[in-house]
Amino acid sequence: MSTVADIRVAIESLWPQAGAESWDAPGLVCGNPSASVSRVMFMVDATESSIRDALEWGADLIVTHHPLLMRGVTTVAEDLYKGSLLTQLIRANCALIAVHTNGDSVSTGTSVVLARTIGVEPRATITQNALGGGMGIIGDTAPVSLGDFARRIASALPNTAGGVRVSGEFSRTISSVSLCAGAGDSLLSDPAVAQTDVYVTSDLRHHPASEFREQAAHGRDTALIDISHWAAEWLWLDTAARELGGILPSLEISVSEIRTDPWDFAVIN
Ligand SMILES: [Zn+2]
Repeated sequence: MSTVADIRVAIESLWPQAGAESWDAPGLVCGNPSASVSRVMFMVDATESSIRDALEWGADLIVTHHPLLMRGVTTVAEDLYKGSLLTQLIRANCALIAVHTNGDSVSTGTSVVLARTIGVEPRATITQNALGGGMGIIGDTAPVSLGDFARRIASALPNTAGGVRVSGEFSRTISSVSLCAGAGDSLLSDPAVAQTDVYVTSDLRHHPASEFREQAAHGRDTALIDISHWAAEWLWLDTAARELGGILPSLEISVSEIRTDPWDFAVIN
């Protein structure tokens, strides 16, 4: 029988905390390190519906990608959702661990999994950290029209209301790709991104996207593809679950099927 502490050791070997960004807060959020664990569920976000689903399944430990607690809190009162979720977990004797940017920056991290899922062969990371990994991926795909590439991405991702949005000419041929699973607008200014035909990421806002595309017209005309943050990172959970199971094969490990993308529908005029 594994304990929470055993799983922390395995997690540290797979996704070292030293690989996390300085602002991040991965690690054990709640739970007793000596508690025994037989069932582990992976999910992107701790939400009311995803936590309920995990507890009904009998999870002893939940691994989320996004940390439930990132910044200081002064209360875990149960009329606040974070307090309510933590209290439910504690009452159910279920531990919670976050694997966030430490799971992004490894060689089988979120962006690498996204790249391989959409037919992009990774060549380098966009940023580099002290462990030899980094955020985002530069890679290549066989020449394809931007429109067909976007269609391929849409069919590879789980369904979401936002779908796939593209800035660029539909019929233009692309082959070099930069991408970042999750919110990647901080990498828009990286010179490596401007050297590719298209940048794929999530949560792109008007000004950063517009300014990037206006500037791109003076260079390689790098297109933008905006995808669901949840969908992009949900892809990674299967890989992460398989890797943990490889170290601790006695665990029963599952991946949450609950969609925690916050958008429910879109109206296109
Ligand atoms: Zn994320």
